[in-house]
Amino acid sequence: MGLTDRQKSTIQSALQKKGFGACPLCRQTNWQLGDDFVHAPVTALGGSVAFGGSHIPMIQIVCTHCGFVSHHAAGVLGIPLE
Ligand SMILES: [Zn+2]
Repeated sequence: MGLTDRQKSTIQSALQKKGFGACPLCRQTNWQLGDDFVHAPVTALGGSVAFGGSHIPMIQIVCTHCGFVSHHAAGVLGIPLE
């Protein structure tokens, strides 16, 4: 399921308040918000991943110049997950 208009608006506001700026690789400022949430699975010290286990919901911002992808924890930005 893609991001809702409300979620996209919240993300854009949150990133502006946090001072989101230039791409760390190419220094361009042309970003595109990804259409969906992504997640990083929690990994045990031994390297095993529990599918369906805990994860960190994130949004992704893609630099349209070089393709660098920046991930941000949705909870820290105050983004509603529903
Ligand atoms: Zn870039």
